[in-house]
Amino acid sequence: MKYNPAVNYINGAFENSASTETLDVISPVDGTHLSKVVMSGVADLDKAVAAAKAAFPAWSQTPVKERVQVFFRFKTLLEKNLKELSDLIVEENGKTYTEATAEIEKSIELTEFACSLPQLISGELLEVSRGIECRIERAPLGVVASIVPFNFPSMVPNWTMPNAIALGNCMIMKPSEKVPLSVGRIAELLKEAGLPDGVFNIVHGDSRIVEAICDHPDIEAVSFVGSTKVAKIVYRRATSNLKRCVALGGAKNHLLVLPDAIPGMTAQNVAASMSGCAGQRCMAASAMIAVGEVDHIVEQICEEARKIVPGENLGAVISRQSQENIEKYITEAEQGGAKILVDGRNTIVKGKENGTYVGPTVIDYVTPEMSVAREEIFGPVISIMRTKTLDEALAIENANPYGNAASVFTQNGGAARYVMAKASAGMIGVNVGVPVPREPFSFGGWNESKFGVGDITGKSSIEFWTKLKKSTTKWNPEAGVNWMS
Ligand code: NAD
Repeated sequence: MKYNPAVNYINGAFENSASTETLDVISPVDGTHLSKVVMSGVADLDKAVAAAKAAFPAWSQTPVKERVQVFFRFKTLLEKNLKELSDLIVEENGKTYTEATAEIEKSIELTEFACSLPQLISGELLEVSRGIECRIERAPLGVVASIVPFNFPSMVPNWTMPNAIALGNCMIMKPSEKVPLSVGRIAELLKEAGLPDGVFNIVHGDSRIVEAICDHPDIEAVSFVGSTKVAKIVYRRATSNLKRCVALGGAKNHLLVLPDAIPGMTAQNVAASMSGCAGQRCMAASAMIAVGEVDHIVEQICEEARKIVPGENLGAVISRQSQENIEKYITEAEQGGAKILVDGRNTIVKGKENGTYVGPTVIDYVTPEMSVAREEIFGPVISIMRTKTLDEALAIENANPYGNAASVFTQNGGAARYVMAKASAGMIGVNVGVPVPREPFSFGGWNESKFGVGDITGKSSIEFWTKLKKSTTKWNPEAGVNWMS
């Protein structure tokens, strides 16, 4: 075992759980046994929540300009430790070093946004009647929780943690049991940056801890990022316990390619979008709709896909189970009559035989009722469907229950505008394969890709992590009686 076991982080210190149940942490890169992670019990969560609750009065009363100083220092520490953090992400998640570095760079951008919060949350004040003032300010909620998935071990925790904490909340983070190591380093760097003990806590575990978070009477709000199946469970459970909840789910993102699209740029974007992070991105292109005659672009997509080499510029998928699942989708499509143009099945990387890889896969002549067309595959696979018109393409996109992202590739502004208006997704790209909004714009999908009001990052997240306090004051009794007295 390369690393010490991933244990909980409570009140500024790593500590063993009362539970002896653990899960192995295996690197998808080459099957190395990296660590094991504790499956905490409710007693661990209670302890973490108690620590967060005890830290809340002092932290919430610390002026926001002072609170964000921690994040200025945290940003510098992320920069300083970029290589070490990237290496850890590669090991536990299996993505490439370049992708891991991009994830830390994005974490830095998210932290910069948190540093700007004092500028964004200054309140409102007005003399509403003679001598009477109303003012609105933002108050933190208290103890909040963030439950995160495996595919971005640093970025997704940094979607929620810096904003929630800079806004004065104390947090319980529940990392994915598949990638529990990076969050531990984040905790250490937060401490080094001067975050008081108890403000950020980690409780490792599986669905049992997630359920306990949703039920805990002292947790005010729950954010969740993961699959739609679990997002629904968490949203229902947390809100039935009268908590605030935003729960981001899975995705099936469509790229609409029109005949006037620039072939080279489109092919590169499609190939990069479907294969980046081995297709394990909620923003990955998973379905492409070829509108009209675009065979020349499909050919170039295949050429681009063949340049993507597992173990070099294509990382591993998270587990053997995931690899088998992805391959099953490809085989089902083939059996259903689709044509496999580039086949990533049975990929073995020399020297990393115990790694779990799927090569880039391009499937053509997929029909909308096939499972590869409807379901999230979470692997480097693009399913191409063919339509004659843009409206037919949009009908396919609209019929999918997810709604994270959709993109159109064209040089026709009118067609692009039409897709922007008609696609049923929260994030739209025009000639952009992965239309992730950068800060300060917020991140969040529609339909079954997100449950709850507002988005998880950017300005929208300020609403989620705070509540408004409205005060009305009068300091001049001589003003006499008026209608507000
Ligand atoms: P997952 O839903 O399996 O797990 C997410 C979290 O929920 C983990 O911490 C896990 O321990 C916990 N969990 C798992 N099963 C549970 C259950 N039955 N009850 C309660 N908690 C449970 O997701 P994953 O496999 O880790 O991540 C991949 C999924 O996340 C994909 O569907 C992907 O699209 C989605 N995702 C979405 C976004 C987005 O912004 N919409 C971003 C990243 C990932």
